[in-house]
Amino acid sequence: MDIETIKNAGYIVKPNHFQVNTDWPTVLDLIYKNSDNAKTNGKDLWIKIKDRLPFGHIPDLKGFCEQLNKEFDSTYTQTCDFNQNWEKRCNCPGIWHIDGPVVSLTSTHISKHKDIAIAAYIQILGNSFWKLDDKNTLVLKPSDVVFISNTISHEVWGEGPRFGVLLFAIEEKKKVR
Ligand SMILES: [Zn+2]
Repeated sequence: MDIETIKNAGYIVKPNHFQVNTDWPTVLDLIYKNSDNAKTNGKDLWIKIKDRLPFGHIPDLKGFCEQLNKEFDSTYTQTCDFNQNWEKRCNCPGIWHIDGPVVSLTSTHISKHKDIAIAAYIQILGNSFWKLDDKNTLVLKPSDVVFISNTISHEVWGEGPRFGVLLFAIEEKKKVR
């Protein structure tokens, strides 16, 4: 697969693509240990954890990063500045980078928006519902992955607590090397 395929399709769903083993106690501990390093959307219990290397808590995610980059003829590079420091930019040859684990404990819909980059999201616990470009609604279950172009708007909600990880594809022109 390549990035152009995602741009052309708008979005691509890969059901049951990669299994990440974890549980809610582990996710709660991840939030607790990153309590100085989390951001919310300022309204409700939607939490992005600012840890791009959360492998101490969830080791399977490293295998996911490696597989995903391999599927795009790329190599996951853990030492990239983007991964190590929230403020820094990508300086590695890799494509897919974790932006952060996302925990949603809110019944509020995340209002319609577009992401700043081509994104991938892996559902890990709970289900999430994505309305894409005001049209189709997807249901993501654990192990499902969706790729979304930054040209596609999406509104996202759940039916209970949910956890997943957002990744960004960093395009060559946005890298500093
Ligand atoms: Zn990088």
